[in-house]
Amino acid sequence: MTDETLDKCQETFLSEALEGIEDIDDQSRREMESADRELTVEITIPLNTSEFARFPGYRVQHSSVLGPCKGGIRFHPSVDLDECRALASLMTWKCALADLPFGGGKGGIRCDPKNLSDRELLALVHGYVDKLGAFIGPNKDIPAPDVNTGPREMGWFLDRYSMSRGELRPDVVTGKPIELHGSLGRVTSTGYGVAYATMKAWDWLGEEMEGARVLVQGFGNVGQYAAVRLAEHGAKIVGVSDSRGAAFNDNGFEVNHLQKAKSSGEIRSVIEFEGTERDGSGEDLLTAEGDILVLAALEGAIHVDNADDVQCRLVVEGANGPITPEGDRHLAKRGIEVVPDILANAGGVIVSYFEWVQNKQRYQWAEETVNERLEERMQSTWDRVIHRHQKTEERLRMASLRLSIERILATIHLKRA
Ligand code: NAD
Repeated sequence: MTDETLDKCQETFLSEALEGIEDIDDQSRREMESADRELTVEITIPLNTSEFARFPGYRVQHSSVLGPCKGGIRFHPSVDLDECRALASLMTWKCALADLPFGGGKGGIRCDPKNLSDRELLALVHGYVDKLGAFIGPNKDIPAPDVNTGPREMGWFLDRYSMSRGELRPDVVTGKPIELHGSLGRVTSTGYGVAYATMKAWDWLGEEMEGARVLVQGFGNVGQYAAVRLAEHGAKIVGVSDSRGAAFNDNGFEVNHLQKAKSSGEIRSVIEFEGTERDGSGEDLLTAEGDILVLAALEGAIHVDNADDVQCRLVVEGANGPITPEGDRHLAKRGIEVVPDILANAGGVIVSYFEWVQNKQRYQWAEETVNERLEERMQSTWDRVIHRHQKTEERLRMASLRLSIERILATIHLKRA
């Protein structure tokens, strides 16, 4: 594992990107580098034991230049202000790149949800809304799910927020259950978007998806649906991993079966799947033989110590920040292409945007409409990045980041005298 924290990694990528922007004034530069607002609160809840416990909660609003802030709420023991800051800035670049009318935000509660009951988690969500609700709103800052939060927590959020306002505000949060004003197609959106970006990149490299050998690190929401979609397009998913280890099948897994077995809880880990020919460690998956490596687990997976052992020709960042700057440099030196997170995993926030629009319209789109519009948006975003790459020969990460920065700069200038 790497010692480089996510916020240090993002600072490094951002300062390299800013070096390539001509004529950026100091004020605008500061606007890119620092958050508009950083909030820290303490949330006290009654535990099942009748004792009380306090948990730190955070919300970072990095930028609202393009519109209300948008970004998830994470429940994890590692959550702190630095992590939220890094993830909030990533959301700013991601929304700008996909041309969404949103800025970037992120938040969370430092807790271990595995040790909390449903009632305690409900109290945490209510506490978060009570302490931070004044700074959140459909036209201010719109949260969404992130690690260890999902539709259930977003439903709780909507309910508490609406109760406090005395009116239903479905557009205050996205990623809600379908029955509670959620959008069809939201659950699959990030994984499908990752698959779409992977297919565009593989085609751009002059390769065929039919028979391409794909390794997927992380078999959660993002990894599962990316694998399913890629297999539908002819790819062979030859390796998958989760927090318990990696599973390999040289002929390609029956991904639909694997996805159903994992998501239904029939198997706890991919290594228990009947189609597994051999298993290994999570690290083995990253350096196994294959054509495409999809990173859909955690930050910092590829770093200075393992980048030289990656055997795939294309690496796709389904997760946020899964490659450190040093790891990225090593991959670049070896001619391995990388599709960066702000391009590859934008599908989630794109369909969150569609959910927000549907809530404002009080209208529900068909799932095919959502998926078609997701593809259109992924395609136009990809086209812009490739167009810039063809002009400048920047790698895809810098082309993407600089496009985002320039989009925000243009808007800042329009607002000035
Ligand atoms: P998830 O919790 O559903 O899945 C994460 C998966 O990673 C699990 O299968 C877990 O077992 C696995 N994992 C954990 N540690 C691992 C390790 N060391 N090696 C291999 N696998 C490991 O989370 P998710 O929603 O799929 O999110 C994954 C990443 O994608 C995160 O970085 C998240 O921020 C990012 N992301 C998610 C979305 C979304 O809509 N869900 C959108 C954009 C970005």
